[in-house]
Amino acid sequence: MREDNFRKVIPYTPGEQPGGRVIKLNTNECPYPPSPYVVRALTEMDPDRLRLYPDPLCTRFIKALSSYYKVPENMIFAGVGSDDVLSMCFMTYFNSGREILFPDITYSFYDVWADVYRVPYKTVPLLDDFSLDVEGFKAGNGGVIIANPNAPTGRLEKTETIEEILKANNDSVVIVDEAYIDFGGESALPLIFKYDNLIVVRTLSKSRALAGMRLGYAFGNEKLIKYLNDVKFSVNSYTLNTPSILAGEAAIEDDAYFKEIRDKVIKVREETKQSLKEMGFEFCDSMTNFIFAKKQGMDAKAVFEKLKERNIYVRYFNKPRINEYLRISIGTDEEMKTFIKALKEILE
Ligand code: PMP
Repeated sequence: MREDNFRKVIPYTPGEQPGGRVIKLNTNECPYPPSPYVVRALTEMDPDRLRLYPDPLCTRFIKALSSYYKVPENMIFAGVGSDDVLSMCFMTYFNSGREILFPDITYSFYDVWADVYRVPYKTVPLLDDFSLDVEGFKAGNGGVIIANPNAPTGRLEKTETIEEILKANNDSVVIVDEAYIDFGGESALPLIFKYDNLIVVRTLSKSRALAGMRLGYAFGNEKLIKYLNDVKFSVNSYTLNTPSILAGEAAIEDDAYFKEIRDKVIKVREETKQSLKEMGFEFCDSMTNFIFAKKQGMDAKAVFEKLKERNIYVRYFNKPRINEYLRISIGTDEEMKTFIKALKEILE
């Protein structure tokens, strides 16, 4: 067998999903259950519906997003989590053969999609405070992708910064990955009506507690969304399954519950920042549901492992520039108290 038959890639490494009773602060999930509307939509669904293929247009989910965000339906795309949406975006928009640009420290799936779809890329190093080097995104390119707020740093860029990058790139598509925008950032969403090169990607995994359902979506002008749908319908027309479409619709409709759990996460995040600061940790002022923190002289990998021995899972990245940091997702108030206590004991 010839080896060149195979598409070979180094895959993305997702955070661990340990079983049993652990404190899980490693994959930025929501610590609270999904909306009761979601539970009702799923329990009331007639199982006979599973005999039929799902709606390939995900109409009910798209309609719910359209009325909630006041964006026309033909400017919205739905996918199996934002990973699926982003992967489709790479396939659809980064097709020129020219190098795409993204920061050196960002969501570690971007270089994997670039490799798997044979998209050439160049990383633009973040500045020392982990802010974007805006000038670096003004060089000619075949596209740009930026997570805002960024992961794993948690840092939020101003909408003006995003707009500056959009203006400098009117020949290519700029994807803004807003997986964490609900936790305090200002969205670039209104800019889709002003710039025809902007795609804003979102998820229900974090702020709407539906990581297990796999629901993501994108906003962009009609032409960008049409091309994205053309690619989707050329790969797999039935991406979202029927329960997901119903759950997505229900989650978007329960605005009060969404705000309640989001506010709880934000409150616990701010308290956790305070505790970490008192312990001498340094971190960007996270606007997400995680904190990316380091402490002078701390061996982050050793602490990560010691926390794991106590059944507390955080994320550690053994990569240049970030190997002194721990990424800590925000759990419940109680979980964070247990975490801080364990961290203090380990660092003693
Ligand atoms: N973008 C960023 C920046 C993320 O951190 C994640 C979560 N791993 C995703 C997208 C994907 O999330 P999901 O596929 O669950 O929507």
